[in-house]
Amino acid sequence: MFNLILFGPPGSGKGTQSEKLIAKYNLKHLSTGDLLRSEISRKTALGLEAKKFMDKGQLVPDEVVIGMISSALDANPGAVGFLFDGFPRTAAQAEALDKLLELKNNSINVMLALDVTEEELVKRLVKRGETSGRTDDNNGNVIRTRIIEYHKKTSPVADHYRKANKVVLVKGEGSVDDIFKGLTKEIDARMKKS
Ligand code: ADP
Repeated sequence: MFNLILFGPPGSGKGTQSEKLIAKYNLKHLSTGDLLRSEISRKTALGLEAKKFMDKGQLVPDEVVIGMISSALDANPGAVGFLFDGFPRTAAQAEALDKLLELKNNSINVMLALDVTEEELVKRLVKRGETSGRTDDNNGNVIRTRIIEYHKKTSPVADHYRKANKVVLVKGEGSVDDIFKGLTKEIDARMKKS
């Protein structure tokens, strides 16, 4: 299996690049943001609980997202690999993911971290808010809270994988195709070895 984490702050382009990467490499896309929004639209108990946090720009509790990822891994036994998008987002989620993969005799091959300046992030999120229908992109305070949550809780996740020598920084500004090329170059180099 080839397991990849696409990492970066809100608005760094993880969703856009994930769509292209899963098509090229046939990976199973696991986006906790998409999974949570699907729970919300189906009005499940989990979705209603998660919505309270998401509307404020706060992270959803670890046990909720870890449970969702655990079920998704079990539901895809034949996958050639997974692309994790928006997960793990806390050190506790990273530790849980390592354990879940270990139970399946697997591990993370690489974390590709999209590098985008803060100024560009805010610009993109505000613009996305005009068209996406995502309420969390439509409010300056919510956007700010998401970026603060990212610095406080999510950036330590990169340290976790840096210790294991698995982090590669990739340029996240420029055209969608150029960024995609930067990502595929790193993946191709590692797929050969694995
Ligand atoms: P973005 O990265 O642009 O903020 P996402 O779709 O990844 O968009 O996440 C939207 C919201 O969903 C987050 O602000 C958070 O409330 C919640 N969320 C998504 N993934 C996680 C996660 N792994 N842990 C906790 N909360 C999450």
